[in-house]
Amino acid sequence: MSHATKNLELVSVTKRYGDAVAVDEISHRFSPGSYACLLGPSGCGKSSTLRMIAGHESTTEGAILLGGQDISHLPPAKRGTAMMFQNYALFPHLSVIENVAFSLKIAGVGRRERHAKATEMLDLVDLAKLSGRLPDQLSGGQQQRVALARALITRPQVLLLDEPLSALDPFLRVRMRGELRRLQRELGITFVHVTHGQDEALSLADEIVVMNAARIEQAGPAREVFNAPKTDFVARFIGNHNVVALPQGAFAIRSDAVELTEQVSGAIEAVVTQIEYQGTHVAVTSRMSGDQNVIALIPDHLFFEHPTNPGDHVGLTWDETKMHKLNG
Ligand code: ADP
Ligand code: MG
Repeated sequence: MSHATKNLELVSVTKRYGDAVAVDEISHRFSPGSYACLLGPSGCGKSSTLRMIAGHESTTEGAILLGGQDISHLPPAKRGTAMMFQNYALFPHLSVIENVAFSLKIAGVGRRERHAKATEMLDLVDLAKLSGRLPDQLSGGQQQRVALARALITRPQVLLLDEPLSALDPFLRVRMRGELRRLQRELGITFVHVTHGQDEALSLADEIVVMNAARIEQAGPAREVFNAPKTDFVARFIGNHNVVALPQGAFAIRSDAVELTEQVSGAIEAVVTQIEYQGTHVAVTSRMSGDQNVIALIPDHLFFEHPTNPGDHVGLTWDETKMHKLNG
């Protein structure tokens, strides 16, 4: 899209803190100009990975390539990456425009030029009107947009975002999601966004990289990861899937592909244990033999045509072609 976007690639990257392995030989090539989410539970090594890409943390082993060049020994400002921190880390005593222009000041750019560039960035995040304010005179969402403008002013090839939406309330979080996505499209650069929220990753990402216990468990387009989880962990973590153990092995089946029937013959017998109303859907949990719980996500109008209750005996059916064999 814009000026040639460079490939970011991790080659057998490892991070150890003393004896503890935080990141274990991960390799991944990010598609240039795409929105990637690093998704995984707390402690799986997401932030360590991001900080190594940014240069705020050294790699123990491995290489980080940008446009084919190993950047892993360069200082953060020389890498072509920029990082937006979880807590925004704005300077409280500097105005909005001075915060945004800060890195240019350090680089020795004159006041007029750096303020012109900062104003351009503030326009991009729709904050030019507030350029004279101090950070504590801004809402959380506005502070976040300042932090974004401040990261983008260096014209990075790759923007790194560590849980950028976690400090926002749910309503603002959804709005900022749209804004981040718009910015990424407009700039045409690679965004690598760390999150532990599957909804956030699914709604934002072109590509999802699922991490678990210091390793990459699966990576691919968001729809592919959701529709074809490869492992038990990914199926459970990405949400809205059941994992059922059958004699032939473990399978994932999407909750919205499970149907309930009143007649038990020809179906899998189960007993309803829990009903949860979710607005557009009702989540019906039932227990089949072997103590396995299966969740069926039933559209609300269908559920209320034939409501069931905890304790009811039901049949579970699904289209076998929607079952998905898991590795391991
Ligand atoms: P995540 O961002 O996925 O929650 P982190 O990358 O922050 O995971 O942490 C991965 C592992 O490394 C965790 O076990 C964490 O306790 C450990 N860790 C992170 N930073 C340090 C550090 N500076 N010193 C020692 N251990 C650390
Ligand atoms: Mg983290």
